Amino acid sequence: MAESFDVVVIGGGPGGYIAAIRSAQLGLKTACIDDWATADGKPALGGTCTNVGCIPSKALLQSSENYEHAGHAFDEHGIDVKGLAIDVAKMLARKNKVVRQNNDGIAYLFKKNKVAFFHGLGAFAGGAPGAWQIKVQAPGGGALAAKNVIVATGSKPRALPGVAFDNKLILDNDGALAIPEVPNKLGVVGAGVIGLEIGSVWRRLGSEVTLLEVLPVFLGAADEQIAKGHGSSSRSRAWRSSSG
Ligand SMILES: Cc1cc2nc3c(=O)[nH]c(=O)nc-3n(C[C@H](O)[C@H](O)[C@H](O)COP(=O)(O)OP(=O)(O)OC[C@H]3O[C@@H](n4cnc5c(N)ncnc54)[C@H](O)[C@@H]3O)c2cc1C
Repeated sequence: MAESFDVVVIGGGPGGYIAAIRSAQLGLKTACIDDWATADGKPALGGTCTNVGCIPSKALLQSSENYEHAGHAFDEHGIDVKGLAIDVAKMLARKNKVVRQNNDGIAYLFKKNKVAFFHGLGAFAGGAPGAWQIKVQAPGGGALAAKNVIVATGSKPRALPGVAFDNKLILDNDGALAIPEVPNKLGVVGAGVIGLEIGSVWRRLGSEVTLLEVLPVFLGAADEQIAKGHGSSSRSRAWRSSSG
């Protein structure tokens, strides 16, 4: 017999986990289903943002900023740094630790707020009067009934036509946040927030980064002054399409 909930949220990213916690805080019996797994199959709540987006990107921005300051900014303060080097494996391990702490933090918030968590792929399996049937596709399996369903399944990186991601030469955000050594040259397609963040990380560590942007400005969707500030302080090379 399927366990019944007032709300079932499919997807445990920032959209889903916050909706689930709020539903539970409002007194609704709530479950959240999320399929993200670590390399060894453990649940990793938090979706793109926590696993391969905002959180790891900020962790690497902090590491690379420290490295850049030590190499370029400390001298004028009279701080002499000798033998400056970057241990990329250690930097990535720290990033992974930060991610795991955030995964665990969300699991803790679920427990604290009494959100039932199901690890697996959620799918609609039919409707009955007053309830949706939801199937959890996972080794343990499971069937839930929900009066209300919130679909918060997020998005996936889109490859350019004919250029599939292999996360060796052609990287999506996941691969770009886990490059095992500083590449000599890196091309970044798109000078929006994500492209600039990832480009900044590797440029600060010594990569020659080329940004490809079709619009006439970087950060096209951002406040103009912020976009200008970033453009003028960037030491990356930028190429724009001739039509842009
Ligand atoms: C490098 C990078 C940096 C970023 N930095 C920022 C930032 O600083 N600030 C900011 O606001 N945003 C940032 N973003 C964007 C942010 O990550 C997304 O906007 C956010 O993750 C979207 O949240 P979401 O809950 O809609 O989807 P997601 O985070 O994608 O979560 C969806 C979840 O649902 C799961 N799922 C999908 N289908 C099913 C199913 N059928 N059953 C069960 N589970 C399912 C997925 O596996 C995933 O865990 C960044 C993104 C990237 C790539």
